Amino acid sequence: MKVAIMGAGIAGLTCAYELEKYGLRPDIYEIQDDAGGRGFNHTAGWMNIMYRPITDAIAYLKTEFGIILKPMERVHKVNFYSKNNSATMTGKLGYILLMGPGNGSVYRQLKDHIRSPIQFGQVKNFRQLAKDYDHVVIATGTPEIPMVLGNWRTDIAGYIKGATVTGKFDPQTIVMWFNTEWAQRAYGYFVPWNDRKGSLILNMQEVGTHGANINWQKFLKDIKWDIEILETYETPHNIGHVYRCQWQNLIFTGLAGGFLDPLFAFGQIASVASGAAAAKTIVEGADFDKQVRLWLLRNQRLRIMRRYVDKFTDDDFDLAMQVVKSPGFRVLAGRSNVNIIWLLSKLANTLVRHKIEKTIT
Ligand SMILES: Cc1cc2nc3c(=O)[nH]c(=O)nc-3n(C[C@H](O)[C@H](O)[C@H](O)COP(=O)(O)OP(=O)(O)OC[C@H]3O[C@@H](n4cnc5c(N)ncnc54)[C@H](O)[C@@H]3O)c2cc1C
Repeated sequence: MKVAIMGAGIAGLTCAYELEKYGLRPDIYEIQDDAGGRGFNHTAGWMNIMYRPITDAIAYLKTEFGIILKPMERVHKVNFYSKNNSATMTGKLGYILLMGPGNGSVYRQLKDHIRSPIQFGQVKNFRQLAKDYDHVVIATGTPEIPMVLGNWRTDIAGYIKGATVTGKFDPQTIVMWFNTEWAQRAYGYFVPWNDRKGSLILNMQEVGTHGANINWQKFLKDIKWDIEILETYETPHNIGHVYRCQWQNLIFTGLAGGFLDPLFAFGQIASVASGAAAAKTIVEGADFDKQVRLWLLRNQRLRIMRRYVDKFTDDDFDLAMQVVKSPGFRVLAGRSNVNIIWLLSKLANTLVRHKIEKTIT
């Protein structure tokens, strides 16, 4: 069986790893000269609370797929700031991992797991690959190919501007800022690499380069951090979904398959899961949609929450800080395994419906 994978990113490399377990060697085509996602290094936070009923994302990848990834650090604290309020969460909250082409990054670690040849610097036409191969896994980390096929709907035109910064940091503390003036209903965040270096990132909606730069300057001015910027990067980060995860002999995985959550724009664990599911589909003829159903359902729930959060004012974000500080939330978040995404999406759905009904009547 001939299999081509477009993209040596999280989903593509995982798919190759799984195919190899079945004795297959796919041909991997990567547009860049190295495996490393969008080409720049940055830190990522894997927050356990986001994946319930999975309690530990690193342990999940090991038991579910045999993928052993080494994080840089554990997250023990998250500081949240809204315009006029703040809150803190502590505990075994998650992990920090390096993304990009650098040594020790998730991409490097996944690449070390596989033996299949990766052809770097290759720009291939997906229609040609579809003719030449029995199966083509689309793992390009962008919605371009499903868009060309009319198989994509953008839910949020996201945009990211980020920087590698130096300063004095706690290596186990992540920081998140919410302020509608410069982040609309998205957010800014900081994930440390160590006690002297980290990634400062601003997630935005519906802006281009110019708007992003203005927001970025406001963000830096507002947070008043004593930092030095080493390098900056920016990229569109569209969130959406495909109408069909499989299209003839194409399988859409990772971001190209809509496996990016619409609330926080996180997608690394779901991208691993979708890459592995594509391999199982190819080898065992397993139903791809069925395998990824829970991830897609999770995104649906997060989309409902996004609709709700999109109406937030700064006062609402201030109120959200009060909720995070409340004893009830602390029990739910820290001492239970309640699926908070499910619970909050139910609540958001009721509140959105209530608002619509109130508007109609
Ligand atoms: C700055 C930033 C911060 C993020 N932080 C987090 C976080 O903290 N937690 C989290 O869970 N998620 C985070 N995400 C999202 C996460 O990175 C993505 O969800 C995930 O990388 C998607 O995996 P993927 O395999 O689909 O794409 P990628 O990992 O991006 O891989 C796609 C690969 O395909 C290649 N490619 C592109 N086009 C072609 C082509 N035509 N032919 C061949 N190859 C091609 C690319 O060069 C790349 O190597 C972040 C994203 C960004 C941009």
